[in-house]
Amino acid sequence: MSLNAELHRHLGGAVVPRIFWRYLHRTGHPLAAEYPEFETFEQFITRPRANLTEYLELHTLVERVQTLDTLEYFVSKLVRGAYVFESICYLELRHTPFFRTSSELSTQERIRQMRDVVRVINSSGDQTEYPLVFSQILCMHSRLPYEINLAILDIATEMPECVCGVDLAGPDTLYAEKMGEFISLFKLAKDRGVKTTGHLFETDDGNHPELLPYLDRIGHGIQIPLKLPHLLSQLADRGQCLEVCPTTYLKTGTLKDLTQLRTVFEQCSKAGVDIVLCTDNAGLHDVRLPFEIENLLIQDIMDFKQLRACQEASFNHAFAWPHDSPPQQFWRLLIPGTKVEGFLGT
Ligand SMILES: [Zn+2]
Repeated sequence: MSLNAELHRHLGGAVVPRIFWRYLHRTGHPLAAEYPEFETFEQFITRPRANLTEYLELHTLVERVQTLDTLEYFVSKLVRGAYVFESICYLELRHTPFFRTSSELSTQERIRQMRDVVRVINSSGDQTEYPLVFSQILCMHSRLPYEINLAILDIATEMPECVCGVDLAGPDTLYAEKMGEFISLFKLAKDRGVKTTGHLFETDDGNHPELLPYLDRIGHGIQIPLKLPHLLSQLADRGQCLEVCPTTYLKTGTLKDLTQLRTVFEQCSKAGVDIVLCTDNAGLHDVRLPFEIENLLIQDIMDFKQLRACQEASFNHAFAWPHDSPPQQFWRLLIPGTKVEGFLGT
């Protein structure tokens, strides 16, 4: 029985095309007129992009629709889908709260409103019929100024009941010029005890080893085993894992085909670096977590032993999983006659 933890999923990319398209039509949104047929909308959403920057434009489109008034709708639907279709029992949902605030407000008002966004998402993730452990990762963003990214870190620090960590997202072509800012923000996060991950080594533009010492996990990181394997030993020493999101690399043009990930698995296994399998944007890709897993198995990119290691690693590296063991240990307790070391009962 696979119960999954999802550690890398964006709110902007988590809503499947049909839910998004229905929402646009029900509300008479201007975008609905551009896409009267679902099929053309789905093709537009899921087609591969030329590069990471162009791919991220899709998020801008979704973010414009995800406002304080509509977040409850989108988050409740995506939690339902994760629970029913993906056996996800632990979900870290990431987003940049500033992009969900009202654009007509002043910057200071928008900074204040970010806390309301985080609160609404938190309450919307709490679904009685679809109970999963739910927390948020707040993404600092390469397009945002230092002041706003610092305010995002402040929220992560002050609202641990809603937020389990911070991330760095946005076009990685903008990273180099602001690397000093990012290092100081992540250093501050570590000093405050806030968990950290960052989109790094996804493409060659994101190759910044100077930020690595401040990360608990690495968002993607595939360029390390592919092109810079000498860095793997320091990842192993720090206990960092790679959040690998296979379909993304096809949609952004980073990889030509998934078999290139074989090297990622081989190198990481040799170096003792954990991999956790994630979807990044399960909705925009129209590829849910079980299908990401199945794709890798069918193409012999990993085997079932490696899959079990990835699934166990997902819970071990989760920022807010409240137990010492992955849920498979609890599940065994339900099998009559089974004893599990460290747990009461049979
Ligand atoms: Zn991502």
